[in-house]
Amino acid sequence: MKKKAEEIIEPEKKYRVGRWHELPNYECTLCPFSTLSKERMEEHITEVHAPPPTPWTEVKPPKYDRFGNLVEEKE
Ligand SMILES: [Zn+2]
Repeated sequence: MKKKAEEIIEPEKKYRVGRWHELPNYECTLCPFSTLSKERMEEHITEVHAPPPTPWTEVKPPKYDRFGNLVEEKE
């Protein structure tokens, strides 16, 4: 009995591995891009879908209470 072509979905990697003839085919889950090269796919994810670096200083919008007074948030 022949095994069905397995499809491995790796959520962290944002691509899945399918089959193209006898070769593993790497398919981006975020856009129609696909490639036979795992390196190329990892490059694609990094270049196209990598989130921008998070700034260390988080800017919070000012908060006001129901009287319209600025609420200072304590760390
Ligand atoms: Zn993509």
